[in-house]
Amino acid sequence: MTEKLKSEFDKETFNHNTFIIIILGYFLFFEQLFYAFFVREPGSTYQQIHFITALLMILFAGIATYIYQKDFTKVNKYHKKFVIIFVLSGLLIAIVRTSLLQLQLYSLPTIYLAVIYGMAVAFYFPPILSFALYSSSSILLIFLLSGQPIAQEFSYVQDIISNNIIAWVVSVLNFNSYFNGFIKSKKISDMNGKLRYISERDPLTDLYNRRKLNDLLIDEIKRIGRTNEFFSVIILDIDNFKNVNDTYGHNIGDEVLVNFSEILKSNIRELDKPGRWGGEEFLIIAPATDKKGAENLAKKLKKLINNNDFGKPERLTASFGVATYNHEESVYQLINRADKALYEAKSTGKNRVIVYNQGIS
Ligand code: GH3
Ligand code: MG
Ligand code: MG
Repeated sequence: MTEKLKSEFDKETFNHNTFIIIILGYFLFFEQLFYAFFVREPGSTYQQIHFITALLMILFAGIATYIYQKDFTKVNKYHKKFVIIFVLSGLLIAIVRTSLLQLQLYSLPTIYLAVIYGMAVAFYFPPILSFALYSSSSILLIFLLSGQPIAQEFSYVQDIISNNIIAWVVSVLNFNSYFNGFIKSKKISDMNGKLRYISERDPLTDLYNRRKLNDLLIDEIKRIGRTNEFFSVIILDIDNFKNVNDTYGHNIGDEVLVNFSEILKSNIRELDKPGRWGGEEFLIIAPATDKKGAENLAKKLKKLINNNDFGKPERLTASFGVATYNHEESVYQLINRADKALYEAKSTGKNRVIVYNQGIS
């Protein structure tokens, strides 16, 4: 497991455990107060234990709520200690109640059992930690009970040890199935991410492919809706590219396409979306860019391409067609206008930028 995955797992586990503390904390706060006020004799030891428990629970629930809504990006050791302290307090309260009062009524330490099994199911602890928690609590409880005369009548040592072992096994199974589920869902979401990436990219240049460009255009049109925002597209086609293939071979042609796409990628704004529209034809979607802005961008790219040394062949040129989105038109109509401008650039000498105007047909 990588460091990143481990820290993500720690965070998810911690969030889960903190959430459980919130639920248990508030619930037990009210439950313990109810017992203290309505069930127990005023002034009795039982009543005092309920009061102390209620106080502790509301304290934990409060801290847990604070931590939970903070949504820490990274879980530190204090966070982990907080969860352990909560569980230890729960175990201690159960042990105190069991050793003070329980065995006089029942032959099994029922409150204690409820706590250890509840803890095994509700919390996610790694096996070593849960083993430490269970073994220390069973040792402490056995030690405290050994002083009580009534304890001699019960097989309390075996009861406590065997129940702690079972609770620990339940806790390990619970943790493992949670861990496996986490890994599986990570793998699936990783795979989904990779698939999505592959389905959106052109394998040669790593630019957006035509399908994704279409989606992006539809999104952009939806986004601006009826507002008075605008965006432009630039369609560009390498001039005489067939000569490159014919002279140097297809592999060099491919390399040139990759270098060409690098120039596009590294010279546009972050918001602009560059893609490969077809063979040696590229499309740039430029959000929030008007006619003049798009023309300037195209001219800038034309200059960069003209001045770049591609190796073999040394020099390349490209022709550009620019169109700014008209409200109510479709993706097809917009691209069609940019294409017409590109055609005009090709037919009037290439290595030019033409902005679509009404006159172009
Ligand atoms: P124009 O200036 O009019 O655009 O001429 P051109 O030669 O660039 O255009 P044409 O459409 O005649 O030829 C495009 C060439 O681009 C032909 C095709 O083999 C090549 N091509 C298309 N895709 C790839 C590719 O992925 N790799 C390589 N090496 N060549 C490609
Ligand atoms: Mg061409
Ligand atoms: Mg072409």
